[in-house]
Amino acid sequence: MKAIVVGAGIAGLATAGDLARAGWDITVLERSDGPRTSGYMMDFFGPGYDAAENMGILPALLACAYPIEEATYLDSAGRVTGKLSFKRFADLVDGRLLSIMRPDLEAVLRQILPPSVRLAYGTALQGVENGPDGVRVAASDGSVVEADLLVGADGIHSAVREAVFGPEVRFIRYLGFHTAAYMFSDPGIAEQVGGRFALTDTKNRQLGLYGLRDNRVAAFLVHRDPSPILPVDRRAALQWEFAGAGWLAPRALARAPEDLYYDVVAQVHLDRWHSGRVVLVGDACQAVSLLAGQGASLAVAGARVLATHLAEASSIPEGCEAYQREWMPVVRDRQETGRRAARWFLPSSNAELVLRRVMLALSGLPVVNRAIGNSLAGKAVPIR
Ligand SMILES: Cc1cc2nc3c(=O)[nH]c(=O)nc-3n(C[C@H](O)[C@H](O)[C@H](O)COP(=O)(O)OP(=O)(O)OC[C@H]3O[C@@H](n4cnc5c(N)ncnc54)[C@H](O)[C@@H]3O)c2cc1C
Repeated sequence: MKAIVVGAGIAGLATAGDLARAGWDITVLERSDGPRTSGYMMDFFGPGYDAAENMGILPALLACAYPIEEATYLDSAGRVTGKLSFKRFADLVDGRLLSIMRPDLEAVLRQILPPSVRLAYGTALQGVENGPDGVRVAASDGSVVEADLLVGADGIHSAVREAVFGPEVRFIRYLGFHTAAYMFSDPGIAEQVGGRFALTDTKNRQLGLYGLRDNRVAAFLVHRDPSPILPVDRRAALQWEFAGAGWLAPRALARAPEDLYYDVVAQVHLDRWHSGRVVLVGDACQAVSLLAGQGASLAVAGARVLATHLAEASSIPEGCEAYQREWMPVVRDRQETGRRAARWFLPSSNAELVLRRVMLALSGLPVVNRAIGNSLAGKAVPIR
C-alpha cells in the first residue's frame, strides 16, 4: 500500500513513521525548504507521552528535554508576583511529562523514520483528485503521484482540508488571541531566566521566556485581539502590543526576527476526518489550541491510533472510520478544556490580575493543585 503524507511536522512525521513500520510505502511532501530549526517550548504529556513510550523514543525525547522547575510571574520591575510548580504538576501525571522544543521533537521523530520513507522538502501540495480506488496528488515540483491514501498532516491551515473538505472558515474556531514565538541568543537574558518559564504578570497580553542551552532563549507571546486577521508587519504589531510591559520585554522584542512564528489561537472542528481515500491527522482536523497544551501530544497519539486501525481494518475507509470513532471523542474533550482555559488564560482587568495571583498562591495547596492538574490533563486514554 502506498500513502502520501502532506506535512513533515509532528503529526506528519509520526504518521509517516507508524505507517512505514507497518509496511506502507510512504512519500512525505513538506513545503518548507528543510527541517525547522526554530520553534517554541512544549509541555508533552498525556496520550502522546504514552505513544512515545510505545514507539521506544522516550529516552531520545528525555535526552533533549529541558528540566523546567516552575513558571514564575514577574511585574514590570522584574519582581516575582507568583509561581506555579511544574514539579507538582508532573507529580500529578506520575512524572510522565517533559518540556521539549518543537524542532527537537520533530528531529527525534525524523531520526526514527525507516530509510524507505521519501521526505520531499520544498514541495507543497497543489491539487488532489480523490477517487474511489485511489488518490492523484499534484505537487509544486510538477510531479503527479498516485497512491492508495492521502494523509493531510499540514497543520491548522491545511491545504488538504481546503481541497477535500471545504474552505477553512467553516472549520476554524477563533479563541480571541494572537500568538507569536521565536528564538534568539542573549547570554544576559538566558542567565536571568535560568531554568524556569518566566512570564510577565500583565493584562490582556503575556510574554514568556525560557532559557535554553548555549545562551539561547525561546520567546512565546500571546495577546487578546478581537479580530482573527493577522497584521502585515508582525514585529511592529508585537512592539505595539507589548509597549510598557517592562522587565525584559523591550530587550526580548528587539531580538525578534522577521520570520518569527505568528498565528491566531484557534481550534479546528470537523464532523468527519476522512473522505474516500483522504484522511486528516494532527492540527488539520483536531487542533485544540495552545490553551489546551496537548496539541503535539494528541498529534503523536492520533497518528498511532490511525496506523493501528488501518492495520486491523479490512479496507482503508473502514480503518479511517475506526480511527475517527476512537479518537474524535478524546479530541473533543481536550478542545472543551482549551475553550474553558480561554476564559481565564489572560486576565483582562486589575481584579482578574489579583485573582490570578491569589490562585497562584493557592496552587501550593494539594487540593487546588490537583484540580488544576486534572482539568489540564483530561481523562486517561489507553494507547496501543
Ligand atoms: C505557541 C504554541 C505553543 C504550543 N504549546 C504546546 C504544548 O505545550 N504542548 C503541546 O502538546 N502542544 C503545544 N502546541 C500545539 C502544537 O504545536 C501543535 O498542536 C502541533 O504542532 C500540531 O502538529 P501538526 O503536525 O499537526 O501541525 P504543524 O506542526 O503545523 O505541521 C504542519 C506541517 O505541514 C507543512 N505544510 C503546511 N502546508 C503545506 C502544504 N500545502 N504542502 C506541504 N506541506 C505543508 C508545514 O510547513 C508544517 O511543517 C503549541 C502551539 C503553539 C502555536
